Amino acid sequence: MLKERQKLKKWVFVLIAVSTALFLLPLFFTDHAEKKLEKRGLSRESLLTELNPVVAEKKAELVKKTAAIGITILITDDFRSIEAQDELYKKGRSVDGSIVTKAKGGESYHNYGLAVDFALRKKDGKVIWDMNYDGNRDGKKDWMQVVKIAKDLGFEWGGDWENFPDYPHLQMSFGLSIAQLQRGTKTALLDE
Ligand SMILES: [Zn+2]
Repeated sequence: MLKERQKLKKWVFVLIAVSTALFLLPLFFTDHAEKKLEKRGLSRESLLTELNPVVAEKKAELVKKTAAIGITILITDDFRSIEAQDELYKKGRSVDGSIVTKAKGGESYHNYGLAVDFALRKKDGKVIWDMNYDGNRDGKKDWMQVVKIAKDLGFEWGGDWENFPDYPHLQMSFGLSIAQLQRGTKTALLDE
């Protein structure tokens, strides 16, 4: 009888230990991701509300540097809220049109203020997405000239993605994956 009780005690202890570990594990991961954000000077709140200041600065530089070689670009999108991303995701799925994104709310770098989209503006003011256009007549495609300058500024180009290339898309991930950004911003999301 005494042995039985000891056995039971042991099991209760194991059960408590396991459930404590299961409870603490996500906390550890959240904390870890937050620390990563902090180390890069990214605050959870600002990630969910505005274009990152570094990205904003590089965006301005991109506009200036492309203008210097006779290319006018238009930034068509930068920070995008999670709600706006969800709306965009519906396009070509539950609403008319063609699919423009594979990312649901929270799955795009735009949702953390770390991405911008660009288009070219012709001299007559028309905005185009023609990747073969050579408006500055230097024998090179304007689009790829913009991409080259963007990459030199530290942007990653969506056109390099193999499974769903996104040619107007430029982002700065700061070495953070979407999963890390999601974990790091979870607390801020829950606060809303
Ligand atoms: Zn984009």
